[in-house]
Amino acid sequence: MRALSIVGERAIEVVDKPDPEPGPGELLIAMQASAICGSDLHIYRNPRPAFIDNAITPGHEGCGVVAAVGEGVEGWAVGDRAVVYFRRTCGKCRYCITGNNHVCPNIRPGYGFAAGGSDAEFMTSDASATMRLPDDLNYREGSILACQGGTAFAPLVRLGAGGLDRIAVSGLGPVGLLATQFAIAMGAEVIGIDPVESRRNLASELGAFATLDPTAGEIGAAIKARWPDGADKLVETSGATPAHEAISSIVRPLGTVALVGLGNPIFQTSLNEITRWEITVFGSTIYPMSQWDTLCDFVRRKQIDLDAVVSEDLSLEEGARGFQLADDAASGKICFHFDR
Ligand SMILES: [Zn+2]
Ligand SMILES: [Zn+2]
Repeated sequence: MRALSIVGERAIEVVDKPDPEPGPGELLIAMQASAICGSDLHIYRNPRPAFIDNAITPGHEGCGVVAAVGEGVEGWAVGDRAVVYFRRTCGKCRYCITGNNHVCPNIRPGYGFAAGGSDAEFMTSDASATMRLPDDLNYREGSILACQGGTAFAPLVRLGAGGLDRIAVSGLGPVGLLATQFAIAMGAEVIGIDPVESRRNLASELGAFATLDPTAGEIGAAIKARWPDGADKLVETSGATPAHEAISSIVRPLGTVALVGLGNPIFQTSLNEITRWEITVFGSTIYPMSQWDTLCDFVRRKQIDLDAVVSEDLSLEEGARGFQLADDAASGKICFHFDR
């Protein structure tokens, strides 16, 4: 099969690899769509030896069709449409059995990070970590929802986003743009924040009440010029330290902040301000598999235009260009399609 390989720092090649075979409990997925995520860029910029040695295929936003069913798998058949949940969880712990498998502490090597990923014609996945793609969603939509769509959706659910809310979305990459769309569909008024003009323009087209450049002046003052009390809620997707430092100037007293973006691993903001104004801050990591049906149903009922966040849909052979575009951080989502 053809597969992407990270051969060095910011270097991608397309290589031939043996077709994987499904082991017991696994499915073989013939990929139809795969997409690049911010987390792939960490590997692209700073690849571990296992990637350079070609042992691991990148990609964790895979969507396709079941091509073979491993021993002992029930409920799946060849031809079923499937989405891979890349975080491989135990299925047994208190978090898994209460529908919160995204925070399972017993994770095994994740697809595209420590196990073979989706930037390839085929991949294997645990049947227990595979979700069904509804017939009315296309494969590209499946790959967008597989990771980033859910990552944008889960914090809004936890924030209880609704029609009374003024929500700031900080960072307008694919997750921020999806969060913007979702929050608006939930009834909230949204201000999008990003230094890149093209991304701000896209957020405006998606219905943002306003967009702001955080490098153009004091962001808190700019927010309060539109919302005098500040934002009720903030979804922070950039992971950038200046965005963290600005939290208490963006949200109102008793406001709530979801930290979604990863960047600087040290969270830096004024403890005095967080405490003084009783601001709630929580972390949010992808979404639980138990939310998949709700997410698909929401996208369908609200007629969310997932394609609006896609800027390129490339063949796998154009993998190097795709990663370069994503690395430039000025584009929307980069997807790969597989001509079958
Ligand atoms: Zn992802
Ligand atoms: Zn578990």
